Amino acid sequence: MSGVNEIRSTFLNFFAANGHEIVPSSPLVPRNDPTLMFTNAGMVQFKNVFTGVEKRPYNRATTSQKCVRAGGKHNDLDNVGYTARHHTFFEMLGNFSFGDYFKENAIELAWKLVTKEFGLPKDKLTATVYIDDDEAFGLWKKIAGLPESRIIRIAGSDNFWQMGDTGPCGPCSEIFYDHGDKIWGGPPGSPEADGDRFIEIWNLVFMQYEQLEGGVRNPLPKPSIDTGAGLERVAAVLQGKHDNYDIDLFVALIRAIADLTNADPQGPQKASLRVIADHLRASSFLISDGVLPSNEGRGYVLRRIMRRAMRHAQLLGAREPLMHKLVGALTREMGQAYPELIRAEALIKETLRLEETRFRKTLERGLAILDEKSASLTKGDMFDGDVAFTLYDTFGFPLDLTQDALKSRGISVDQASFTDAMERQKAKARAAWAGSGEAATETVWFPLREKLGATEFLGYETETAEGAV
Ligand code: ATP
Ligand code: MG
Ligand code: MG
Ligand code: MG
Repeated sequence: MSGVNEIRSTFLNFFAANGHEIVPSSPLVPRNDPTLMFTNAGMVQFKNVFTGVEKRPYNRATTSQKCVRAGGKHNDLDNVGYTARHHTFFEMLGNFSFGDYFKENAIELAWKLVTKEFGLPKDKLTATVYIDDDEAFGLWKKIAGLPESRIIRIAGSDNFWQMGDTGPCGPCSEIFYDHGDKIWGGPPGSPEADGDRFIEIWNLVFMQYEQLEGGVRNPLPKPSIDTGAGLERVAAVLQGKHDNYDIDLFVALIRAIADLTNADPQGPQKASLRVIADHLRASSFLISDGVLPSNEGRGYVLRRIMRRAMRHAQLLGAREPLMHKLVGALTREMGQAYPELIRAEALIKETLRLEETRFRKTLERGLAILDEKSASLTKGDMFDGDVAFTLYDTFGFPLDLTQDALKSRGISVDQASFTDAMERQKAKARAAWAGSGEAATETVWFPLREKLGATEFLGYETETAEGAV
């Protein structure tokens, strides 16, 4: 059985042997890209290379990229603990061609790695192509010898990638692994595609057009390749597991949490253990890349992730700060591949400890209110948005924490009244400032703050340059 660290190396070395430069992961906070909250795909660090603005000394690259999808357009936060395949932090393995090889080689390389190097059986694999991409359809038939029934044409945006409203774009091909009929779900494009039976392991993007203003799309003179494969999903397949949370890395993290809380990894507290393990990774990597918890922007997303994990620690019966005690287990698993984790270990521990100490002061009281106010609600009901706002404002409960707490009972939060309460409070704050005689604050600061987005409700919604492969 190959461990996560070995699988990462196998991938990178395979592409290095095929003429690719091994390029280190870029940080989670994208450089010079204020439109993107966090790096959410391998191609993010190469955006300018794809558009030709930047030149590199190589035209083929391979990476294992740290990604966070917990805000902006790609937000998998709500999936964590509920699907077998989503994390907030994950590693995206990728190979890139900057105007060098194209579709045929990309499919050849991917197929060779998956079936020869990784040894996956062909009959478990399915590929999708964009609805009109006859070329890719033909290549999957020719190179992989897949029967036509397992090359599925898909019309939606999942199979057509665009960097933004304008710029490079093109069709995608996704490779799926069939985990077998004991698991609910159906092939891509079928009504049961949302299930976890067929899991997408690799996405190949064929950048072959340039989208111009006004709907015109021109062929690129030198088409490019951008691919992304989730390391944890590949590891699950290679380790004979269905669920990402059953791979060696997560088993080790979950064991560390279970040891400290006496929770049973297979018992009813399974989801909490997974959420904590996932959020521990996201929080630690974000902190090591310079993000600190705060009340706005990136820092607020980090705070939401941390506090959500801390509520689950409370659910497991932890009576004192827990998260900081888990950092050692994480650096043992991932420190070799990401030495920045080891360098920042003390900072990560201290940040987690301080945040949890602080949050615990209001957590218990807030949870008591949440329980009391939701006691009479049943599946399908709505939780009062005003109370959700009090929990946010007075007890430090991010909205998504309240939503997460009620989700398993099928109760949603009345977001409209939550937003109203938020607006009322802002108006009150404005009025208070107006009375203080500080005119500049009223006319400059508040409009600016609202425009630039000081909270999660405003921030990054204008994201244009999309990073997903
Ligand atoms: P899905 O449809 O399963 O949500 P996706 O199409 O959104 O995946 P891509 O944007 O194509 O994912 O990203 C490339 C690869 O990264 C995917 O094929 C998958 O292996 C992996 N991946 C994407 N999102 C996650 C996540 N939240 N956690 C773990 N791996 C992920
Ligand atoms: Mg997705
Ligand atoms: Mg997909
Ligand atoms: Mg995809």
